[in-house]
Amino acid sequence: MSETPRFIRVHPDDNVAIVVNDGGLPAGTRFDAGLTLREHVPQGHKVNLVALAEGAPILRYGQVIGLAARDIPAGSWIEESLVRLPPAPALAELKVPGKGPAHLPPLEGYTFEGYRNADGSVGTRNLLAISTSVQCVAGVADYAARRIREEMLPHYSNVDGIVPLTHTYGCGVAINAPGAAVPIRSLHNLARNANFGGEPMVLGLGCEKLSPEWILEEGRPKPAPGNTPDIVRLQDESQVGFESMVAAIMEHAEKRLKNLNARTRTTCPASELVVGMQCGGSDAFSGVTSNPAIGFASDLIVRCGGTVMFSEVTEVRDAIHMLVPRAATPEVGQALIREMAWYDEYLNEGSSDRAANTTPGNKRGGLANIVEKALGSVAKSGSAPIDDVLSPGERPHRKGLIFAATPASDFICGTQQLASGITLQVFSTGRGTPYGLAAIPVIKMSSRTNLAKRWHDLIDIDAGRIATGQASIEEVGWELFRLILDVASGRKQVWADHWGLHNDLAVFNPGPVT
Ligand code: CA
Repeated sequence: MSETPRFIRVHPDDNVAIVVNDGGLPAGTRFDAGLTLREHVPQGHKVNLVALAEGAPILRYGQVIGLAARDIPAGSWIEESLVRLPPAPALAELKVPGKGPAHLPPLEGYTFEGYRNADGSVGTRNLLAISTSVQCVAGVADYAARRIREEMLPHYSNVDGIVPLTHTYGCGVAINAPGAAVPIRSLHNLARNANFGGEPMVLGLGCEKLSPEWILEEGRPKPAPGNTPDIVRLQDESQVGFESMVAAIMEHAEKRLKNLNARTRTTCPASELVVGMQCGGSDAFSGVTSNPAIGFASDLIVRCGGTVMFSEVTEVRDAIHMLVPRAATPEVGQALIREMAWYDEYLNEGSSDRAANTTPGNKRGGLANIVEKALGSVAKSGSAPIDDVLSPGERPHRKGLIFAATPASDFICGTQQLASGITLQVFSTGRGTPYGLAAIPVIKMSSRTNLAKRWHDLIDIDAGRIATGQASIEEVGWELFRLILDVASGRKQVWADHWGLHNDLAVFNPGPVT
């Protein structure tokens, strides 16, 4: 069956468009608009609508994504080597607005069933977390969690699960280096995630650099030796043999399970949602289907008074000139620039820059470079003013749309957004990834329908229908918003949780390892 050849031009100024049809389109294909393809163009890849002279700007999203590497006749496949990377927007030239744009009109009446905590936060799950202060104890934490799950959890039916918060930080690191502040506050804030019910406990070893007290309290409190009501140290002399260590952990767990089990879901306004937006394995459709639909849902949550975080510094860097004007206050605008500058310097120290971001899969999916990727990525932030900016692992100062600075790496971004307090994540993907997190539900949205069909038992919602004209951005955005409320309420289960697909935590450590 031959389909009508289709392309998507995002902005009226664009001189390139992307091919929609599965499998791409062959040379000689004639579009209704009159353009004829000179060669085969794969799905999601760009075709130029007009002839481009060498050095001419290549426009997508109404923005310059690159410069033509040579003269290119109309109807050509604009593959990666034909697109010269332009420099990133100069931070010093960005103008911070004196007064931010107006907030979107409020939206009332939307609720979800959540777990309210003593500190006012609301969780989407009721989980016992076992924090760890060092990787040395990870095996013991996993073993104890398995035992607790098998032997104790059946007696506490209101508790959704046990999550060992294991990671690679804690020792063998320069604990006093400036960069150490990031992983230390991240681990502290991870333990406080609303899905853990304010019942933190820490498993430590005893000789590590990061003392378990630092996870429980800010400001590096002086460690007290031995076990405490909230801390089990494996090297404590009271423990003789492995079984006694496990018994100590189970005893600490049992007290918390009793408290957690007393919690029930209550009806909460959607203003209590804290949702993280992420993308990974992106393709050229991500920026026109899934990410704009996520942006639409983001606006709805923000209009309800809720909190949305978007992140991934290298994927906003090339669109920062579009984000700074959306800062709600001059302070937020300055903070956006500060986080970009910090990351530029971080990459520079590693003799790298933001161009190191794009993957072979991104490129096969039609994304020529980081500029094109970033312009599609920031669509996840919708159109609301940006209310707050967080350095990696910080907790929000207010509700609304928040830029939480993190690396774009899927597992690090996920971990850092968790530390910043998200209780649900939406993840958009074009190439496909089975990504999931144990601490929160992750809704996965595909940018293309053929991925949603192939991965029918991994993808939760398909935004590819936007490319084929079967649904609008608004329709898919509303559908996602309702799915967020259902998943947050425990009424619907995401595929990653159905199969138990949960990635390891990957705490961002910009500091040196010893
Ligand atoms: Ca990512």
